Amino acid sequence: MEKFLCGVDLGGTKLSVGLIHPDGRIFDKVIVFDHVGKSELQVVDLISSLIRQLLNKNGLSESDLKGIGIGFPGHLRYKEGITLTSSNLKGFKNFPLRENIGKNFHVPVLLDNDANAQAFFDFKFGAGRGYDSLIFLTISTGIGAGIILDNKLYRGITGTAGEFGHTIVETSGDAPLCTCGNRGCLMACACGLSLPYHFKKKTEQGLKTTLPLPKDFDYSQVDGQLIMKGFEMNDPVSTAIFNDCADYIGIGIYNIFQVFNPPIIVLGGGLMCWGEPYLSRIKSKFYLLARDMIFDKIEIVESEAKCDAGLIGAAALLLE
Ligand SMILES: [Zn+2]
Repeated sequence: MEKFLCGVDLGGTKLSVGLIHPDGRIFDKVIVFDHVGKSELQVVDLISSLIRQLLNKNGLSESDLKGIGIGFPGHLRYKEGITLTSSNLKGFKNFPLRENIGKNFHVPVLLDNDANAQAFFDFKFGAGRGYDSLIFLTISTGIGAGIILDNKLYRGITGTAGEFGHTIVETSGDAPLCTCGNRGCLMACACGLSLPYHFKKKTEQGLKTTLPLPKDFDYSQVDGQLIMKGFEMNDPVSTAIFNDCADYIGIGIYNIFQVFNPPIIVLGGGLMCWGEPYLSRIKSKFYLLARDMIFDKIEIVESEAKCDAGLIGAAALLLE
């Protein structure tokens, strides 16, 4: 019998554990939210017991698993399996997560960054099928990425390669402050977290929103959905933000193109729900910058990831 891949997608709000067929189909999965706020060791126990529950429920045992792949939302030391930092989860500083899960099982355990796992999903089963290299960018609350070169994830010396979110794309004095402490990072300019900043700034510059907002509107409430709504009703503030965000991503992928010359760049994450006008604007900016420097076709496409991409991608790391 073919062995199942066990995937664990450890998110800031959601923890998913699943048994995945080697062709990427989900056999069974369980999702919980009560890992938030727990200690590292409690999270280890929770993940381990969820894996056992899934096995027992389906009359399976550990020997039916090829291994366990875990996607983690933050920086990690890949070779050592140690988590370094996470902006989405409490704790997990210098925590040997791989070893602690491994103690409870007798199969290989892999630990990688969640954006790498999502990149691997598109590479194996999604928009990047058939390519031997791709760059994946997730544009969401933050911005992360995965780099696949010649069929292998490129992780860098530590395991933190692909942090395109912290590449600097704006150097004006009042460029937005990033969570890393620098100004003008791609994610400070163009991810979900940046939207309240842009809204306040555009308004202060004299643009008037036509969105029906309360008088005491709290700018921190500005999110992707509000900007999309404003864009659809031709609100000048929302439209300007929508366009700026797309242009910054266009600059970001232009930089990626110049560094890697990849055959395909896959864009995923929550802000991709801005749809076709967003992707078109990103591409326009990219082609404007790349002009006559493109010698072979480059695809810029939307990820095929649905909500389980992190889970399936984590499991698929066992196929690398
Ligand atoms: Zn940054």
